[in-house]
Amino acid sequence: MSTPDRPFVSYHLWSLVTPATGQERWHCQMRRGFIKARQHEPQVKELLGQATAPQRIGILAQKGVYEFHHNRHLLNKSDGVEKVAQLLKLNNTSHQVQQRVIQILKKYQNAPFLRGKNILQLTPGDEGFPKPILIGQGDTCFRLYAAMDCIFIDGDRTLHILDFKTGKSAFDQRQALVYLLAARYLYPGRPAVASFYNLELGKKSDLIKISNHEFENLKYELAKIAQKHQDDLQKYHQQKSDFSQIFPPNPGYHCRFCPFNSICEFANLTASSQPVLPV
Ligand code: SF4
Repeated sequence: MSTPDRPFVSYHLWSLVTPATGQERWHCQMRRGFIKARQHEPQVKELLGQATAPQRIGILAQKGVYEFHHNRHLLNKSDGVEKVAQLLKLNNTSHQVQQRVIQILKKYQNAPFLRGKNILQLTPGDEGFPKPILIGQGDTCFRLYAAMDCIFIDGDRTLHILDFKTGKSAFDQRQALVYLLAARYLYPGRPAVASFYNLELGKKSDLIKISNHEFENLKYELAKIAQKHQDDLQKYHQQKSDFSQIFPPNPGYHCRFCPFNSICEFANLTASSQPVLPV
């Protein structure tokens, strides 16, 4: 595979390069190597194609919200949840996934977060990669990928970027910052805020805003991450046997939850009494 001509970054890449606060202990750079450097190898590709139950629940929950607002009458119908479940083909998923998604749909129908909002964009969540946004930083530029779940208009013209969550993981503010930067380029001159909404817990985050000065710092930070990753990819493609030096492993109890533990020579799958990781 040839390396991309311009560095790129996304929230996903940022989270693979730098751990969220509190997750440093189980952060592993080798996972980034599998996902972003070796993704076309047949074994890796197969593992990447197997969505975990939490991932499936997240995708289906987002799609469920999309279907409710795409077919608004279903929000008021007694069999609305059942109908949306059919549109999602929930029957083809595991019992665990079905149960949790049904609960999410019921909860949403009872209290539809987006009802009455002036929705500008609402995606089904399965449309793949968004178009990259070209961002200049100093005398270089990088591509930014930002797939936003939903944008609605707050008040007269403020864009409100909303990201839906499921599960118990804490909101990662960095994701909102990436969306706010993307909005600045996609909707120049429009004020914007961002927030998260957990569909399972019915919990919303505080509003996240960013100043001009913070935008500049964010651009600088993202350009650095994009360049670092680009350099790592180049090094890997020049000398594939250096994989574990370029993307160092961090084995531990968390390997049990890593999708690559079946092919990673550093995986530590021995019994331990470490705490369970957040899902
Ligand atoms: S199995 Fe462990 S060491 Fe290997 S990539 Fe996953 S987390 Fe890293």
